[in-house]
Amino acid sequence: MIFDNVTVITMNPDRQILTHTAVVVQGKKIAEVGKSKDVLPRHPEKPVIKCDGNVLMPGLVDTHVHTAQAMIRGCADDLYLLDWLGKRVWVMQGNYTEEDGRASAALCTLEMVKSGTTAFLECMLAERYGFDGVAQVILQSGMRAAIAKIVMDLPSYAEVEGFMHPGMVEDGKTSVENTLAAHKKWNGAGDGRIQVWFGPRTPGGATLALYDQIGALAKERGMGITIHLSEVREDVDYAVSQGFRSPAELALAHQLLGPRTVLAHCVWPDEGDWKIFRETGTSVAHNPASNAKLSSGMAPVHRMLKAGVNVALGCDGGPSNNTYDLIRDMRMASYLANLRENDPTVVPAEAVLEMATLNGAKALGLAGEVGSIEAGKRADFIILDMDKPHLTPCWDPASTVAYCAHGSDVDTVVIDGQVVMQGRKVLTLDEEAIVDEARRRAQEVAARAGLEIRPRWPVL
Ligand SMILES: [Zn+2]
Repeated sequence: MIFDNVTVITMNPDRQILTHTAVVVQGKKIAEVGKSKDVLPRHPEKPVIKCDGNVLMPGLVDTHVHTAQAMIRGCADDLYLLDWLGKRVWVMQGNYTEEDGRASAALCTLEMVKSGTTAFLECMLAERYGFDGVAQVILQSGMRAAIAKIVMDLPSYAEVEGFMHPGMVEDGKTSVENTLAAHKKWNGAGDGRIQVWFGPRTPGGATLALYDQIGALAKERGMGITIHLSEVREDVDYAVSQGFRSPAELALAHQLLGPRTVLAHCVWPDEGDWKIFRETGTSVAHNPASNAKLSSGMAPVHRMLKAGVNVALGCDGGPSNNTYDLIRDMRMASYLANLRENDPTVVPAEAVLEMATLNGAKALGLAGEVGSIEAGKRADFIILDMDKPHLTPCWDPASTVAYCAHGSDVDTVVIDGQVVMQGRKVLTLDEEAIVDEARRRAQEVAARAGLEIRPRWPVL
């Protein structure tokens, strides 16, 4: 296949933007990237897709996704984090069946594909969501994913004990054993599209002994680890109560850090912490929309990037964002980081594009495979329809994508050489059936949870 006459935001080492270009896909890989006039005559036999000068760029990598939360989108708006979690989110999730877990993952992957995300990290898959059903849906969608299964032996959040919904509680032995079983069954499935990781929830969500065990097992098997870290000030208090200077030091002391680890949020790290991140090669998943919505704080993104930390982007979940549209969150990431420093130059459009592509790929251990448009890399890319009022005029494709575009501007998605969406029609999933099922199941979950979720304004 040849995608002809595209404007390519390559993300290659020179960060070139190539106009009037053709991208040749051979099997699962990008075979060639060059000017259309040179490339086309060399491949007279290949099917050509005319792209009309639209922008082609690497597929986005979302490094912090709760797939189970897509179906409870908007169930907990405008609440403090602990009420948000303890009175709504965990109560809903604690009433999920495996079929609900699968249906929510289908809704989530559908939304991600339709907004240009091609790879993601599911950060906290609970036992009750059913690993197999979720993995099957992801495989079917065509997406690339690391699925982190929950490992836990404490039913608490930070220092707050006893308010976790009983349906969310798992024990240490079973959660570790089932993660290893899922790893054996699914890691490498779909020609390497699926990875299986450990997902210890947050410091305070497991005993220190369990962290040591996870750290050792992950190293032994080359598995990734992802954990929420320093999301709220309570996380810092918890680490201090355990005798550590910070959550990062707790994680370091208990084998959780390294190049295969992604720390979600990191709103409250200090200079000593980001030095640890850099030295251990640990990645950070920055979640600007979620942090803003829950008023968790403004992460020191500029400072971590300047210190050489690999900072990627995440949407988080349906109740905290409330969408899985990473394009929208690129803009939020830049604006919030600049606001924090009171300086509009520190995290520019180019920086958030790097976070959403190259840095995400690195965080998922896929730096050599995806994240840029270069010959030899996997064919994971998206094409945005630029013929829109809100994208006009386009002086600079990088800033137009980062600051003006929405996920719904993505017209075409290719993952591993497979056309997953074309003309906004997803070819791998049944969109209508997925949306209908999610709508119905969301009501059923709320009913089982005994929650009535309704507008605060009178509905007549
Ligand atoms: Zn999260």
